[in-house]
Amino acid sequence: MAQPPTDAGHAIAVSDLRMRYGDKDVLKGVDFTIEAGGVTALLGPNGAGKTTTIEILEGFRSRSAGSVEVLGADPEHGGERWKARMGIVLQEWRDNGKWRVRDLVAHFGDYYRPYAEPWGADELLDVVGLATQAKQRVQRLSGGQRRRLDVALGIIGRPALLFLDEPTTGFDPHARREFHELIHRLTDLEGTTILLTTHDLDEAEKLAERILILAGGRIIADGSPDQLARAAATTAEVKWMQDGRLQVHATDDATAFARKLLATDEGAVTDLEIRRASLEEAYMTLVEQFEAGEAEAAVDKFLSKLWLASFAKKEATK
Ligand code: ADP
Repeated sequence: MAQPPTDAGHAIAVSDLRMRYGDKDVLKGVDFTIEAGGVTALLGPNGAGKTTTIEILEGFRSRSAGSVEVLGADPEHGGERWKARMGIVLQEWRDNGKWRVRDLVAHFGDYYRPYAEPWGADELLDVVGLATQAKQRVQRLSGGQRRRLDVALGIIGRPALLFLDEPTTGFDPHARREFHELIHRLTDLEGTTILLTTHDLDEAEKLAERILILAGGRIIADGSPDQLARAAATTAEVKWMQDGRLQVHATDDATAFARKLLATDEGAVTDLEIRRASLEEAYMTLVEQFEAGEAEAAVDKFLSKLWLASFAKKEATK
């Protein structure tokens, strides 16, 4: 049921995006395109510029340079109709505590009526798993329920594109699983394109088919969780049981190793397991490699400055 949200076929296109605060360059040429449909996670160390990027895409922040197109428009010039096609779920906010859940949802829905066919309040509460809390006051909801209400308000206008900022911070495992099911439902049944930021790499691995890693003002890695894990680590861990003992071996070619292992006839091999790096391990490796490269570049720059200085001194004393 995926509907193409833009004539161009992509939901987001960013090219050479730059952002400077004062004399500090935070984004130094960010490029990526996100096709309609599916979940993309934007990851990166604190201060990398994720929030800045998302706010530029949402039209809340003016960029310093570069071109940005979101749902077929430049966010700096997106009108009300364009805004109504986007859903935004911010980090948790605590207003509206005295409202009853159903009333608040119905009230938000009315805002979208001129532009879209919003969800009916009861249907939406059912989708996000808050039907039994419909008459409860917002301030009485649990953390997980509260977050699902945030999501309900973010999707009420049936957005083509949904931004989620740290969606499950503070969730217990049960609430987290329910939330993940809701996200899958939105992408599978509604064709919603989702861009999320998270610090939870396990969540990114579970939810997103594509990961973008932002570091040093640029996208340093782009691919599926699996592709990133393969790019970051070449060795896999092979585990198996033999003669009642657990065996572990690290190898660059797990398939060849497993084939050889199964071909040996000394003792039956059982419980064979091949484990590649998780997204978390891959992320750490990629960011560390990147930071080591940056440090090396800084030392090079420093040394070349020293060299230039001593060269200049020599020239001056000639
Ligand atoms: P992230 O979301 O990846 O943690 P942010 O986009 O919040 O990163 O911030 C990136 C950098 O830009 C940080 O160093 C932050 O201090 C700086 N920054 C963010 N907003 C502003 C602002 N309005 N004025 C000046 N500096 C800012």
